[in-house]
Amino acid sequence: MSPIRTGIDLHTHSTASDGTALPDELVRQASAAGLTVLALTDHDTFAGIDAAAAALPVGAMLVPGVEISCVALEGERRIGLHLLGYLPDRVDGPLVEALDRMRQARAQRAVRVVEALRADGYEQVTHELVAEMAAGAPVGRPHLASALVQVGLAKDFDEAFGPAWLGPGARYRVPKQDLPVLEAVALVRAAGGVPVFAHPGAHRRGPTVSDETVAAMVGAGLLGLEVDHTDHDPATRAHLTGLAADLDLVTTGSSDFHGTRKPVRLGDESTSPAALERLLSLSPHQPLVA
Ligand code: AMP
Ligand code: ZN
Ligand code: FE
Ligand code: FE
Repeated sequence: MSPIRTGIDLHTHSTASDGTALPDELVRQASAAGLTVLALTDHDTFAGIDAAAAALPVGAMLVPGVEISCVALEGERRIGLHLLGYLPDRVDGPLVEALDRMRQARAQRAVRVVEALRADGYEQVTHELVAEMAAGAPVGRPHLASALVQVGLAKDFDEAFGPAWLGPGARYRVPKQDLPVLEAVALVRAAGGVPVFAHPGAHRRGPTVSDETVAAMVGAGLLGLEVDHTDHDPATRAHLTGLAADLDLVTTGSSDFHGTRKPVRLGDESTSPAALERLLSLSPHQPLVA
């Protein structure tokens, strides 16, 4: 955990993706936690931004963002990774269209997972139940995990994300169509956004990309690294800090808050005021204030 809490948290999720707090609740919880700057970065959607902005108290700032599911190729290996995009055009353009396609791919993946479960006799898992868990949000594995827990097939979330169900290499781990990461970086830049590599060293989630891939992302327009994240140990943070200095990247820290779906709390990790200032200076767009 970062030693200093700055009240600047640049990576959070709401019910518009796989968080458990409504966007307006999230903004209220952020204020209660002492945050003055919050970025909403739901998976592959901007759907929660307007509701979050409408709930902003006077003096608080909302940085509109998104977390994009990407894939990098390293030789024969396909490695999943997440890209944060801050302050991009959210109304139309190639990024908005790419996100539309990704949400469709999420829906198709959910159908395939449910069909695979039902074909194996787990007929208590229905499309309706998964739709209920997602409640209109782009369907993520956390929604599928909630469905597995709800019907009693998995005893808890960890088991649902384990080897029997949705974990790496598991039978019901169906890949979805993620965006090639260099394309995603370029799309965010073309939309006037600031691309920041989310949790670049989160080994716990599966394999991570090499420093050479990070350099290639910089070549495509990457502007920052999320250094302080609960999934990073001290050695990983030190390495990423050095890499960011070598590549002249902004460094951020954030909670990656998911409400009650993860133990981390708002503001547990944070970004320095200087890094925020630099990040904001890299987009032609303004953050939202009440
Ligand atoms: P998806 O993008 O739909 O495949 O789901 C990925 C999301 O699942 C991540 O963004 C995390 O929020 C969540 N997730 C991945 N692994 C785990 C895990 N082991 N336990 C809990 N949540 C996880
Ligand atoms: Zn998530
Ligand atoms: Fe992520
Ligand atoms: Fe996230």
